[in-house]
Amino acid sequence: MASGLRGIRTVRDFEFKDKVVFLRLDLNAPIEDGKITDETRLRASLPTIKYIQEKGGKIVMASHLGRPKSANDKEFSLEPVAQRLSELLDAEVILAEEPLAEAIKGLTMSLKKNQMILLENLRFESGETKNSAEFAQTLAGFTQIYINDAFGASHRAHASIHALPEMVREKGIGFLIEKEIQMLDQLLDNPKRPYIAVLGGAKISDKIAVIEKLIDVVDGFIIGGAMAYTFLKALETPVGKSLVEEDRLKYSREMVERIKARNKTLLLPVDHVISTGIKDGASAKTTTNAIIPEGWMGVDIGPQTLKNYSNLLSEANTIFWNGPMGVFETPEFSKGSFGLAKAVAESKALKVVGGGDSAAAAEASGYASQMSHISTGGGASLEYLQGDKLPGLEVLRKAKTSEKMEAKV
Ligand code: AMP
Repeated sequence: MASGLRGIRTVRDFEFKDKVVFLRLDLNAPIEDGKITDETRLRASLPTIKYIQEKGGKIVMASHLGRPKSANDKEFSLEPVAQRLSELLDAEVILAEEPLAEAIKGLTMSLKKNQMILLENLRFESGETKNSAEFAQTLAGFTQIYINDAFGASHRAHASIHALPEMVREKGIGFLIEKEIQMLDQLLDNPKRPYIAVLGGAKISDKIAVIEKLIDVVDGFIIGGAMAYTFLKALETPVGKSLVEEDRLKYSREMVERIKARNKTLLLPVDHVISTGIKDGASAKTTTNAIIPEGWMGVDIGPQTLKNYSNLLSEANTIFWNGPMGVFETPEFSKGSFGLAKAVAESKALKVVGGGDSAAAAEASGYASQMSHISTGGGASLEYLQGDKLPGLEVLRKAKTSEKMEAKV
């Protein structure tokens, strides 16, 4: 079995007692008016934090939050996250304003059993996104063991993900990354058949690499969201003013041919919810066939399409879902995405939801708890599935190989 975890140590492999542990987490939660609106990522981080705490490690947690322009962008402060983590962990989480090596070292020395440190938003430091060796050196100045559990950030070569672990000898992953990779590997290594990929969302261009990879792996594709209109237009079905990527029409046409040539299933919408705009209150109606009249745009899959998709999913044994079926943020246009979430949830298959907007749609539909796995990293899970190497994992794998070589000498 080709395991993406080969050569990577997990938290179980370390002796944490009294060691300063740099714990890279993905605490990038949506925050509105100082309140966390979705704490999935916080909760997903708890098992690793608790484990290291129980083993006596001195924890320095670190994460990015949003895309601040500078350290003065206080709306991107991790303060609300520190507060909420304190409650969830029943521990004191000390927010360290600046990640200065000596100051953090000093803090860790006086850390009590029920205290841990959270560094302020890593992206307040310009060196983070530049994968700066200098910034990584600062972090390495107090790090004895490096643990990455930030799956959602592991596809980015940033200082806390890549440059830092390159400098640290003792390094590995937490439980969240371990689970994410184990689940995604099940989609790549002998998945149970039939295996159906459901792809939706705004753009084909974002999903081309994963379609390319999956075409040889899955038994069928279900296409929804705005992506579907590029396919339909490529097949000469009128799509009105729906969102279409004109420069992907040729690719879509060829893709349909290639899927057919491999004798695989491709389901596209046969009816739609259409609207004159995507805002609340714009007039909306349901078509009775695949044609979208002039002046209207497709904003969701129609009821017959949902039936077709649900029927195929009910026979599947493996399902990967990435991307909503429509503009699900608007209640009138959410039936397709929520209905699809229900069909996925009710299927007996192994069902993996690929993070991002599909995770939000699954959550909002009320069916999230019935999924086998909902990835915490939309971009990272797509990159992993399309066969790209994640910098945050590769840097940990290298360690093992060089150690083995050292051991042989
Ligand atoms: P993505 O990030 O590519 O998965 O796209 C997610 C976004 O696609 C969501 O914000 C949806 O509102 C949007 N979307 C889905 N279907 C449509 C559609 N038919 N027209 C416009 N936007 C859509």
